[in-house]
Amino acid sequence: MAVAPSPTGVVSYRLARERVVDDVRAGRRTRLDVCDASAELRRVVEHGAAPTGDTCPICEDASLVLVTFAFGPGLPSSGRAVMDTADVTRLRQRQRTTICYVVEVCPGCWWNHLRESFPFGRRRLATGS
Ligand SMILES: [Zn+2]
Repeated sequence: MAVAPSPTGVVSYRLARERVVDDVRAGRRTRLDVCDASAELRRVVEHGAAPTGDTCPICEDASLVLVTFAFGPGLPSSGRAVMDTADVTRLRQRQRTTICYVVEVCPGCWWNHLRESFPFGRRRLATGS
């Protein structure tokens, strides 16, 4: 399930992603190093992933999907997978700070990389301004 981020507070991990892809293409890292989706991540991909239409940069065969994990007070320390619209509604109604982490995953080779993170829900993080 993909969760739409709030307009502010989005952190992109695009540059780190490009570095990993470059490392694989240059032979500095192998597919074994980066195609390491955990059993839990694979389970979430099978039941709650959103398609992207983007081709995997590692195997260049399968289409990437997005999965979202929510972290915050009252949630499991390993995060809670956002599987469906009911989960999104529950997150939106939380009074406590929630941070969503969106991971892109290839269901073909199991490459995975953190794509972005953002605060989500009724209560936003303080910005200090
Ligand atoms: Zn792949």
